[in-house]
Amino acid sequence: MIKQNIQQILNELPANVELIAAVKTRCASEILQAIDAGITIIGQNYVQEAAKIYEEIGNKKVKWHLIGHLQINKAKQAVQIFDVIETIDSLKLAKEIDKRCASINKIMQVFIEINSAREPNKFGVFPEQAEILIKEISKLPHIKVTGLMTMGPVCSPLEDIRPFFKETKKIFEEIKLLNLKNVDMKYLCMGMSDSYLIAIQEGANMVRIGMKIFGQRRRTI
Ligand SMILES: *Cc1c(COP(=O)(O)O)cnc(C)c1O
Repeated sequence: MIKQNIQQILNELPANVELIAAVKTRCASEILQAIDAGITIIGQNYVQEAAKIYEEIGNKKVKWHLIGHLQINKAKQAVQIFDVIETIDSLKLAKEIDKRCASINKIMQVFIEINSAREPNKFGVFPEQAEILIKEISKLPHIKVTGLMTMGPVCSPLEDIRPFFKETKKIFEEIKLLNLKNVDMKYLCMGMSDSYLIAIQEGANMVRIGMKIFGQRRRTI
């Protein structure tokens, strides 16, 4: 099943769009099946869970992306595991990552998480504050900003999510034009199982898919 699901998604994705398998709550054997079926990017929500799986499956030549919120006190562990941290939304967090990367001599690729619907209880920087945040982060020597990510609100009908993807794409293009040092706006990561086709229409070149690959989620965690 996992294999067929992945092949079907890969077949329909435009060539410029990269697929992240969102693996929260999935076990090592499911993740290994996904890798065998062609997945090259693993998206994890939790540092602890990622560390455990990482130990179990070892280095499979896949990239590890943190797609869930990062608590400051997990930054040290996160910079050791992840290739990309997609959820940077404050200077404080960026500075902590910069500091932790300095001590292990790593330059961390990060995306800035945009709270595109300006939802007060959600993570991500508000659209109007993205530019100033990115300008500040661009001064940190051990961080390279290579993209934006957004979740968007839960919408019904689904189509209502489109303006939030549009707005994030607009920020993506605006930041690109600034030509900031340490900023290379390459990836626009938006869209999940139910919304990725809309996201791609609005310019996403990286999508995060869980349920459409692995089926219904387990209720633990
Ligand atoms: C779970 C999750 C996804 C994938 O969602 P599905 O509906 O399972 O496709 C994508 N992004 C983030 C941040 C997630 O937590």
